[in-house]
Amino acid sequence: MVVVINVGELILKGGNRSFFERQLEKNIRSVFSKIKLEKIGGGTYLLGTEEKENIVREKLQKVFGIANFYFVSISESGIDSIKKEFLNLIKGKKFSSFKIEARRADKNLPFDSAEVNNIAGEYIRTKSGAKVDLKNPDITLFADIFKSETYLYFEKISGAGGLPVGSSGKVLSLISSGIDSPVASWLMLKRGCDVDLIHFHSYPQTNRESIENVKALAEKLENWGFRGKLFLFPLFEIQKELFKKLKENEKKYLVLLYRYFMLKIAEEKTKEIGARALVTGDNLGQVASQTISNLTALDKVVDMSIFRPLLGFDKKESTDLAKKIGTYDISIRPADDCCSLFVPNHPETSARFEDIQKLANKVKM
Ligand code: ATP
Ligand code: MG
Repeated sequence: MVVVINVGELILKGGNRSFFERQLEKNIRSVFSKIKLEKIGGGTYLLGTEEKENIVREKLQKVFGIANFYFVSISESGIDSIKKEFLNLIKGKKFSSFKIEARRADKNLPFDSAEVNNIAGEYIRTKSGAKVDLKNPDITLFADIFKSETYLYFEKISGAGGLPVGSSGKVLSLISSGIDSPVASWLMLKRGCDVDLIHFHSYPQTNRESIENVKALAEKLENWGFRGKLFLFPLFEIQKELFKKLKENEKKYLVLLYRYFMLKIAEEKTKEIGARALVTGDNLGQVASQTISNLTALDKVVDMSIFRPLLGFDKKESTDLAKKIGTYDISIRPADDCCSLFVPNHPETSARFEDIQKLANKVKM
């Protein structure tokens, strides 16, 4: 199986480009047991593997940094060889119209792409009986013509886009077992981050479901290049303290205080693991803790950036993405959420940082 791979945005990376490319090469190699990977042009690779086409397709579609790829037949870079190889390529395929789209990567060749389109097009037309249709063909036959070899194919497969995991620095993502935070973590992987995960639970006060779910979510993210750690942190002692120390009219701050301690603990962890920002699955306005005031107050809890890649998403958009990336079915499994413990019905929606801090000071960490 021979595949041509085109990189996406990395092509824009100027002087840093070789760094991004090396990371992408490493990431591609890491999902195959035995491959040949060779760079054949600016932003283009040739991959050879014995693995089956559908497996290769599935794997490559999950490697961030790839714009598109295609399974190719190879011919010499001469018009005669190209047209004959096209005939091989379409063997057994049914179509009544087609077009040829040749692209000459090596401008020194003695013919241009229009000539290939015309000569090979005429040849395929007579051999197949199908008509040429430049506007709306049943199939398009592509030829990428390099100096000595030409790669022929009829299906361009879209890659996942983004940047190679490992090329943007490390972040620590706060993951619940809900729908949003796995998607937020995935989006950071997509932008090339190394991601570590931290989950807060109330075990043994609640059962182990959220822990098991989060482990399963991390495993799903591995399909997308996640190679980080999952940290589990028991929050129950802090929650118990808070509940004991807060007056009745202060309990509306409980969820924000849970968040306060999660952020503090996560920030501490970043020092140990070398992460440079925190990530959450907050959506603006989705629940009471996610108003502009509350998010602004929580921003002041830590001395580092909190990235919220889902901020502008509707629930449906997050849900659709969760389904696409394979986390949805795990996220909807029942699990006790540590943040629902002791929480009153009417939480504070316009908190000030100073108030949260004052209440948090009642608890020793
Ligand atoms: P999610 O679906 O990710 O749980 P949500 O819309 O239910 O998000 P909240 O439960 O209010 O919103 O949580 C907001 C964010 O706070 C989460 O996306 C996550 O980043 C973080 N968070 C909440 N609970 C936990 C937890 N138990 N452990 C780690 N992070 C958490
Ligand atoms: Mg939640």
